[in-house]
Amino acid sequence: MALRLLINGSKGRMGQTLISSAKDLGLIVAAAVDVGDDLAAGFNAADVAVDFSSHHATRAVLEQAIAQKKPVVIGTTGHSAETKRELLALAAKVPCVWAGNYSVGVNLLYALTRRAASVLDASYDAEVIEMHHRFKKDAPSGTAARLLEIILEERKLTADALRHGREGITGERTPTEVGIHSLRGGDVVGDHTVLFAALGERLELTHKASDRGIFARGALRAARWVADKPAGVYDMQDVLGLK
Ligand code: NAD
Repeated sequence: MALRLLINGSKGRMGQTLISSAKDLGLIVAAAVDVGDDLAAGFNAADVAVDFSSHHATRAVLEQAIAQKKPVVIGTTGHSAETKRELLALAAKVPCVWAGNYSVGVNLLYALTRRAASVLDASYDAEVIEMHHRFKKDAPSGTAARLLEIILEERKLTADALRHGREGITGERTPTEVGIHSLRGGDVVGDHTVLFAALGERLELTHKASDRGIFARGALRAARWVADKPAGVYDMQDVLGLK
C-alpha cells in the first residue's frame, strides 16, 4: 500500500515542493498542515510525518509523533544548539530522520569529503568555499559548517583551526588551518566546493544545487526508509547506506 504522508509547513516553499514531488513518486499526501491546522488529526491520517516548517513547531511535531507512535522526518533548521539537544532526546523515542540537508548529492559529498580528508594528509591544504543567493542571512551555510566539521574530525583538529576568509598580512598558510569562504550573490540555490591543495596537485569536490526539488526528493526517500525502522535518530548517511 502506498505510504500516507503528513506534510507540516504545507503552504511553504518546501511544503509545496514536497506535495508535488510526493505525487510524482506515487506517495499519498494524506494531510497537509500549516499554521492553525489540526496537527493531531494530520498525524492520525498518516503513516509518516514530514516537517519543513518552523523551528518553533518542532517540539509539537515530536510530541504528536510520540503520542501517536509515528515515524517522522525533520527537515526544519534554525534550532539553537541547546534546543536541538533537547529535541533530539524527544526524537529518539520514535523512528526519526533528522538532517540539515536532504540532498542525496550533498550527503554523498559529505562521505567523499570524509574519505578524501582521511586519505590526503596535512600536506594537502583543505579549504571550503560556498556560494548562496543574495537573500541568505547567515554564513557560512549549515552545509559548509558540516563539511568543515567532517574535515576537523578526520584531521583531529578543533574549531580553532577555522579561518573565516583572509585579509591583510596573514603570513604563510599553516598546515593545520582550514579556510572557509562565503560568497553571496544573485539567485544561487547553493554551491559547495571542498578543495584539497598540495604542491603539485589539487582535488576539488563540488556540488551545485539548482532546484529545491532535490531536498524534497531526499526527504521523501527518508520517509519511505524510516517507515519500518525501530525508534532512534537517523540521518541521511543512514538512509543512503553511507555509514
Ligand atoms: P517557508 O517560510 O517558505 O515555509 C514555512 C511554512 O511553515 C509556512 O507555510 C509557514 O506558515 C509554516 N509554519 C510556520 N510555523 C508553523 C507551525 N507552527 N506549524 C505548521 N506550519 C508552520 O520556508 P521553507 O523555505 O519552505 O523552509 C522551511 C524549513 O525547512 C526552514 O527551516 C528551512 O531552513 C528548512 N529547509 C531544510 C532543508 C533541508 O534539506 N533540511 C532544505 C530546505 C529548507
